[in-house]
Formats: sequence, structure tokens, C-alpha cells
Amino acid sequence: MKYYQSVCELGLLLPEPKQFQEQFGGLPWGLPHEKWPLCNNCGKPMTIIAQLQHHPVRFNLGKEDRVLFIFQCLNDPGFCDFGEPGKGNAALILDAEEMTKGRTKPSQEIPIEPELRIIHWIEKEELLKKSDESRLIKGDYEGLSYEEIDLIEIGTKVGGYPYWFQSGLGFQEPYQFLMQMLDMRMAAI
Ligand SMILES: [Zn+2]
Repeated sequence: MKYYQSVCELGLLLPEPKQFQEQFGGLPWGLPHEKWPLCNNCGKPMTIIAQLQHHPVRFNLGKEDRVLFIFQCLNDPGFCDFGEPGKGNAALILDAEEMTKGRTKPSQEIPIEPELRIIHWIEKEELLKKSDESRLIKGDYEGLSYEEIDLIEIGTKVGGYPYWFQSGLGFQEPYQFLMQMLDMRMAAI
């Protein structure tokens, strides 16, 4: 099972982008102002934690130039539940024709995470070799030893198997595992 690890540089040290760039944190590129999602708990704009672009192999969003924005509410850390669907979190998929030019600023002051611009992706292979991939993707580790579970890449990655710190979450099927982020500040710089 292949997965992809991001290699990033601090946006602070890079020239302003002239087009959409994949990144963690920072300000979104091309997001129409009215589409900036508000937290269902506190009502304030949420913080962007990642923007990623379609790639036919690595990150298939089904269409060329389609992008994904991922948001999490950081206005009131610990109080706006971002673990539950439809609460302090949002994911937005936009096509090129729906996007504006340039970076978008939030309508009010909110926490903005440091920008980590993704410079390239490294293709890797999960070390855990098991035939029942669908079970691993659901976080069903029954029958695996701790040593085997620890073979799953724990850090930020696209694809592969998710690493669950606790037991897996139940999602409505069907679904597929897209990515995991350990912590933006711990993404590979
Ligand atoms: Zn909130």
C-alpha cells in the first residue's frame, strides 16, 4: 500500500504565491469570501489547516484543477468540538471556475496557523503487509500485534493506512481514507 509524505518549507521564507499552492496552514488561495466556512458552534470563521490539489494517483478528487480546503475551529480551543461531523470543522471542494484569484482573508480576526508550503511529495510503502486492507483502513486492528500496528506510518501522510491513537471512528459507509495530519507543526519541513 503506497502513501505520500509531504516535504514542506515555511511560507514565511518563500515568495508570495502567484497561483494555488498546496500547503498546511496560512491563508487559503482562491476561496470566495462567501464560502469561508463558519463554525457551527461559535459562529466565527474557522482556521484553514490544509489546501490540497487533485492528483490522479496521489490525491484523486475526480477532476483536474479541483482543490480541497480543510478547516478547523481554533477560536475557542477545546470548546468547539472538531471531532464530530458538522461541528467545528469543514471540508470544501472547489473547481477551478469557482475560485477567485489570490489569497483570501477571513472577515474577522481569527487564529491563523503558520504556513507550511508543500514543496514535494515522497512516495513510500507501508511496512505492514496485510491482505485485508479494507479492515486496516477502518482502524480494525484485531489480530494484529502492537509491533505490527507500530509499522503503520504515524505522521502526516496522504493514502496508506490510518494510524489510530484510540480506536477507529465509525463513519457512514462507503468511505475511503484520504489523509491524516499528525499536527501541522510536525509536518515534515
Ligand atoms: Zn468555533
